[in-house]
Amino acid sequence: MRFDLITIFPEFFAGPLDHGILRRARETGLVEVHIQDLRVFTKDRHRSVDDRPFGGGEGMVLKPDPLFEAAEALVGHSLGSAEQPAVLAPKTAIILMSAGGKLFRQETARRYSELERIVFLCGRYEGVDERVAEYLATEEISVGDYVLSGGELPAMLIIDAVARLIPGALGNEASSQNESFSGVRHLEARVEGGASPAPASVESFVESRALLDFPHYTRPADFRGWKVPEVLIGGNHAEVANWRRAASLEKTQRNRPDLLLR
Ligand code: SAH
Repeated sequence: MRFDLITIFPEFFAGPLDHGILRRARETGLVEVHIQDLRVFTKDRHRSVDDRPFGGGEGMVLKPDPLFEAAEALVGHSLGSAEQPAVLAPKTAIILMSAGGKLFRQETARRYSELERIVFLCGRYEGVDERVAEYLATEEISVGDYVLSGGELPAMLIIDAVARLIPGALGNEASSQNESFSGVRHLEARVEGGASPAPASVESFVESRALLDFPHYTRPADFRGWKVPEVLIGGNHAEVANWRRAASLEKTQRNRPDLLLR
């Protein structure tokens, strides 16, 4: 999968791409990230990417022409005009980062993980000429109900969430299925067959709502007097699965009751 980032701050991404799962995914060739400096596509002496807003008001607005041309250079063909709308290759998306966009969720990340190429347009200043949202971007996406100073962090966040869903990116394939916001969770409990040599049977609970992950604990079992729930230490896998299901529901009710209403 290839990610392209169109930005006026190409150096911004030194660092976040070089750790953990993303670093490994790039090293093994599962993921390729290309950073495109927007200023390369300016024609004036000052290499200006922005201009004053029509209608007056505060701040500067990113001009449409460098953004269109940068994206065209990346995909290798014209991205259209009013007379001739463009057709994009299948499995390709051009995403405009925007506080006014549709909300990015885990299900959005899953959908993107099926694509082959995503081009991110990172806004700055007061925002981006609306024709970019209308005619260049295939989607306008927000990462949350707050305003940041640029689209670079939001794009990075999406790359992280998407890359870890690409098969092979996580060490353990099961680990992206049982997480917070996963629509269907499989909580399996191996019911031990006692001392008998019979194979352990598996009880499977399928929870179809998007709940938060259950709480995790590791050693020490007693940390400053705060103890790990007894049931997790007991070794009864069916009881552990039951506890996790209930704890996941309880945590969702407490922190994100909105998820239960969807
Ligand atoms: N005037 C705009 C904010 C511009 S912030 C408004 O009120 O909506 C500058 C740039 O930061 C935006 O163009 C966008 O690319 C990025 N940005 C800011 N907040 C964002 C968010 N919540 N999600 C995605 N991108 C965001």
